[in-house]
Amino acid sequence: MYANIIIDIAHEKVDRTFQYLVPPQLEQVIAVGSQVKVPFGSGNANRTGYVLELTDQAEIAPEKIKMLSGIVENSVSVEQHFLALADWMHHQYGSTMIQCLKTVLPVRRHTRKKERRQVRLLLEADDVERQLTLYEKKRARARKRLIEALAAQPGMTLDYEAVTGQLRISASALRAMADEQVIAVESERAYRNPVSGDVNLRARFSQSFCLTGEQLKIVSEVLEEFDCKRPGVSLLHGITGSGKTAVYIELAEQMVKRGRQVIVLIPEIALTYQTVTRFCARFGDRVSILNSRMSEGERYDQFERAKSGQLDVMIGPRSALFTPFLKLGLIVIDEEHEATYKSETMPRYHARETAIERARMLGACVLLGSATPSVESYWKAMRGEYRLFRLNMRHGKASLPSVEVVDLRKELMMGNRSMFSASLRDAIEERLQKKEQMMLFLNRRGYAGILSCRQCGAVIGCPHCAVALSLHSDGRLHCHYCGYSTGGVKCCPTCGSAYIGTFKAGTQKIEEQVRREFANARVLRMDFDATRKKDSYQKILESFADGEADILVGTQMIVKGHDFPNVTLVGVLAADLSLAVSDYRAAERTFQLLEQAAGRAGRSDKAGQVIIQTYQPEHYAVTHAAAHDYEGFYEEEMNYRSLMGYPPAQHMLVIHAAAKEEYQAEQCMKWFARLIREQFPGLLGLGPAPESVAKVSDRYQWAFYLKDADQELLIRARSVLERALSSNSDYEGVSVQFDPDPM
Ligand code: ADP
Ligand code: ZN
Ligand code: ZN
Repeated sequence: MYANIIIDIAHEKVDRTFQYLVPPQLEQVIAVGSQVKVPFGSGNANRTGYVLELTDQAEIAPEKIKMLSGIVENSVSVEQHFLALADWMHHQYGSTMIQCLKTVLPVRRHTRKKERRQVRLLLEADDVERQLTLYEKKRARARKRLIEALAAQPGMTLDYEAVTGQLRISASALRAMADEQVIAVESERAYRNPVSGDVNLRARFSQSFCLTGEQLKIVSEVLEEFDCKRPGVSLLHGITGSGKTAVYIELAEQMVKRGRQVIVLIPEIALTYQTVTRFCARFGDRVSILNSRMSEGERYDQFERAKSGQLDVMIGPRSALFTPFLKLGLIVIDEEHEATYKSETMPRYHARETAIERARMLGACVLLGSATPSVESYWKAMRGEYRLFRLNMRHGKASLPSVEVVDLRKELMMGNRSMFSASLRDAIEERLQKKEQMMLFLNRRGYAGILSCRQCGAVIGCPHCAVALSLHSDGRLHCHYCGYSTGGVKCCPTCGSAYIGTFKAGTQKIEEQVRREFANARVLRMDFDATRKKDSYQKILESFADGEADILVGTQMIVKGHDFPNVTLVGVLAADLSLAVSDYRAAERTFQLLEQAAGRAGRSDKAGQVIIQTYQPEHYAVTHAAAHDYEGFYEEEMNYRSLMGYPPAQHMLVIHAAAKEEYQAEQCMKWFARLIREQFPGLLGLGPAPESVAKVSDRYQWAFYLKDADQELLIRARSVLERALSSNSDYEGVSVQFDPDPM
């Protein structure tokens, strides 16, 4: 038996398989996906690798084939389909097979199992008081202390270390109490369970209502597809609060009833805390979560629990997609439009596309949900590739808020130079009087270095690419798509005004301004700086939810997913900022943010109001968001994408190069451009050009863009460049990334 093995070193040059002989005693144990030790190269250095294939066909003369030295102990054997998935990712996104494998198998090594001991209270609630009185009489103070502490715990358990440490209970006391059957000391091979066993959760978050007809229809149609073995992809377009999560939960439950497992992808745990809690309430300890703060070991544990059948549902960000469930039935992707679903490292896979591929391989369904679907997904739904469902109504008395767009140019003309328009100021005063809460939202995302006109609102853009130009340290404005650049712009190309400048504003400044103008208001601020400390994010949200402040000031963080029933006003301070980002998704992001911001107001029976301040009130992203008109927005946005050949109308491949010396990055990209011109004469290349942030951590960045309607052509171009690069030592100092359909 021979094993074709991929060697575990992240180097393009050995990204191929090598054949080894399997020792007879391992023939029964070795499997595709096993991690093995092999002698490698002329020096027979010890390396590890993965078995991609087992065969009886020798690829070279059998006497030249070395024998593999062993299977890595405790290594995870990969199901066949993970290998196939890695292979698909390799084809689709490039990078090396080994990196693709590492992505689908993010945890490969056993970390030492923690032996954990826990102290559990064995008394029923009624008996607790009696036992306390008894210990009181006996003056057994330590034992009383322990019972009180345990009774206060949601799961009635405490870690052994905490009991002997903080609570200062001696081991002999514990033994005596265990003999009395008051407590038990349990030890388990501890799979760390990140979901707290809070019993109150069930009561607080369980779904006690019946689904509406609309909701049930979605559930039953998806299930019907599944049951008829025609599982497909569905897009659920439902405004915030329309009951999407309720649908996910019901569908998940139906899948679990069918013996299938469910993966729920969410953009980020912290932002979707309430979604997570609702799942936990329904599925108890059959659900687990992954998050970015977990150690490798903790993730590994969760994957092990999934594999051994202890879990039905896994919730988490991108990487949760690779949960090794054996009978996957459904993948839900909540907030499917979020950019976090695209990996920032090689392979730069998109979780949505990869989920669809994984589901296809396993006969599972995919349900995408969003209040503002990505243009890509909606386009596919329009073309019939995805099934489209809609939920247009909010539950209960909640209705969509009224939206007012305020033209900041007019405020300026009237001499109002403050951050607050007259309307917004009145609205804030009114809320303060009524003791209702509000959120002030500053949309600041990568707008630094963008010039705009304060008179007419126009953003200085590239004449060729219809994206904003960005100001580089050389004092010139650059387009980072096509490389167009221009010197100083003295006056606005649209209206001729000389009032042009970069946007300057920050949440801190707004907070100060609010305090100055509304002296009696209680203000909380949440932005990246304010939340750098661990958990402070949750604390700020909780204290706002508890009514400890009237106004929450923040960046996009505050507009996502949180339910604050007492918030009746949302103010967007400068809606334009995200329009001015130098990439083709600027309008889409702005629309999404405005819609989400609007979704924060009026989530209970009190009517909500949204005020959007902008220099570009006529921009279609603003007007359609104000009218809650997704379809209208989509149509205009698709016109723009088709006209300019941006995704999804066409496909795009960005190639990033970073190097210590600028000429290296530049020359590498120019060489790529030459190769493309020679070998793919029909392919449109843009640039190469320095990137908008040209120098990141002391490395210069250049980019080169390819556009074409045919995705396979771009994939071929990428693999030609990858191969050329790996066999050319001139550019060893340049790190190159391939990014298909950039986010
Ligand atoms: P979304 O995920 O679309 O924002 P949710 O599922 O969170 O919507 O629902 C919004 C609110 O409406 C929640 O408080 C939920 O409990 C409630 N809700 C959803 N569906 C129903 C229903 N069928 N009957 C009553 N209340 C519902
Ligand atoms: Zn102007
Ligand atoms: Zn351009």
